[in-house]
Amino acid sequence: MPSPATTETHDVLVIGGGPAGSSTGYWLARAGHDVAVIERKTFPREKTCGDGLTPRAVHQLTEMGLAGTLERYHRYTGLRACAHGIALELQWPEHPVFPSHGYVVRRRELDTFVAENAVAAGAVLHQGTEAVGPIVERGLVAGATVKDKDSGETREIRARYVVVADGANSRFGRALGTARRRNYPQGMAIRGYFESPLHAEPWIESALDVRDRHGNSLPGYGWIFPLGDGQINVGIGLLSTFRDFKSVNTTHIMNEFAATAPEYWGISPDTATSVPTGGRLPMGGSIHPKVGPTWIVVGDAAGSINPFNGEGIDYAYETGRMAASLLDEALQTGDGMALQRYPALLEAEYGLYFKVARLFAQVIGRPALMRELTRVGMQSRTLMDWVLRIMANLLRPDELGAAEAVYKAAAALARVLPEPTLA
Ligand SMILES: Cc1cc2nc3c(=O)[nH]c(=O)nc-3n(C[C@H](O)[C@H](O)[C@H](O)COP(=O)(O)OP(=O)(O)OC[C@H]3O[C@@H](n4cnc5c(N)ncnc54)[C@H](O)[C@@H]3O)c2cc1C
Repeated sequence: MPSPATTETHDVLVIGGGPAGSSTGYWLARAGHDVAVIERKTFPREKTCGDGLTPRAVHQLTEMGLAGTLERYHRYTGLRACAHGIALELQWPEHPVFPSHGYVVRRRELDTFVAENAVAAGAVLHQGTEAVGPIVERGLVAGATVKDKDSGETREIRARYVVVADGANSRFGRALGTARRRNYPQGMAIRGYFESPLHAEPWIESALDVRDRHGNSLPGYGWIFPLGDGQINVGIGLLSTFRDFKSVNTTHIMNEFAATAPEYWGISPDTATSVPTGGRLPMGGSIHPKVGPTWIVVGDAAGSINPFNGEGIDYAYETGRMAASLLDEALQTGDGMALQRYPALLEAEYGLYFKVARLFAQVIGRPALMRELTRVGMQSRTLMDWVLRIMANLLRPDELGAAEAVYKAAAALARVLPEPTLA
C-alpha cells in the first residue's frame, strides 16, 4: 500500500495524453481547475495514424490557441479523389466556422505540442506513467493506481472525477465496464512513410477503388498524405462491414496499394522509411456506457471516430472539450449530475450524423455497389463536392445547399431504418 505522502490528489485525473486527453486537460486547466493528465509513454511518442487534420480539427486546434504552431507544418487545400482512371481535385468548402484548409502533421509532433499546450494552460502532465487500474471507493471511481514506467513503482492518484482517454484499446475503460456495440461498424487501418518528390503537394489524395497488381479489386480505400518534410504518409483503411473483414490481410492490401499507387508519388520499397503499422478505429459512437457517476469517456475510448472518413483526431478534441465543459459545471456547482448530460450532448451533436454514417458503412461494405457509386460519382465534380462536405462533416447549418438536401434525405432514411443486427 502506498503511504499517504505518496498519494497525489486533483480535481480531475485524465487517463491518456493523446488528442482527447490533452484537449480535456487544456479546457479544464483554462477554466481554472486542478487537472492531471497521465500518459504511459514519453513525448515525443509515435502513434499510428494518417496524420491528416481536416478543417474541423484545425478549428479545434485554433480554439486551443495553436493556429501559429500549425503554420510550421504542411498546409493543404483539399482532396484529390482518384477512381476509375479519373482524378478530381476537390477544394475544402467555404464555411462560416471551419477554415478552408487542413494540415498534415506527424502525430509524434502534434500530440507533443498539444500536450505541452495543456501544461502551459496549467495542467499537470505525468509522462511515462501508466494507469494500471481504477481506485474504487464505496462503489465510486476515485482515481487510479499508476505505475512509473522507469522505476516500476506504483502509487495512487486520487481525483473527484476521472476522464477515460486511453484510446482505441481502452483497457482502463473496459475495467470500468465499457464495451463496443458489436452491430456497429469498426475500422481497421495501416500506414507507412515513404520519401517522395511530391511531399509538398497542396492536395491529400484518396484512392476509392484500390486494386492489386493484376487489376483485381481490393476492399478498403487508400490514402496518400504529403507531410512537407520530404515524406508522405501512405495507408489503407477498411470497415468491418466488408464481407471478409476478419480474414483480410491489411499488410497485403497495403503492399498492393503501394505497388499500384500513381507513379508520380515515387512510392517503392526503396523509398520506404518505416515498416507499416496498423490499428483499430472504434467509430460512430460504438462504445457504451460513456459516463458513470464520477467518470466520463472521450475520444477513441468512446468510439468517437467518424465512420465516413476514419477521422478521429478532431472528434477526440471535440469530445474532450464537451467533457471538460460538463466537469467544469460539476466542479463549480458541486453537483456531479452534470456529467449525466454527456450522452444527450453527444446525441445532439453527432447522433443523426453518425447514424447516417453507419448506414453508409453498410453500403460501402459491398464492393460491387461501392464501385458503381464511385463510377457515377466521379462523373460529377458537383456531386463529389457534396460528398466531401458530407463525409468531412462540414455541412453548413446556415444555408440549405444541395449537400444539406442530399444529407437530409439520407438522414430521414436513417431515422426510420433499424440498426443492422450484426457487423
Ligand atoms: C492507421 C490509422 C490512421 C488514422 N488516420 C487518421 C487521420 O489521418 N486523421 C484522423 O483524424 N484520425 C486518424 N486516425 C484515428 C486517430 O488516430 C484517433 O482517432 C485518435 O488518435 C484518437 O485520439 P485519442 O486521444 O482518443 O486516443 P490516442 O491518440 O490513442 O491516445 C491515447 C493515449 O493514451 C495513452 N494510454 C493508453 N492507455 C494508458 C494508460 N493505461 N495509462 C496512461 N496512458 C495510457 C496512450 O499511450 C495514448 O498516448 C487513424 C487511426 C489509425 C489506426
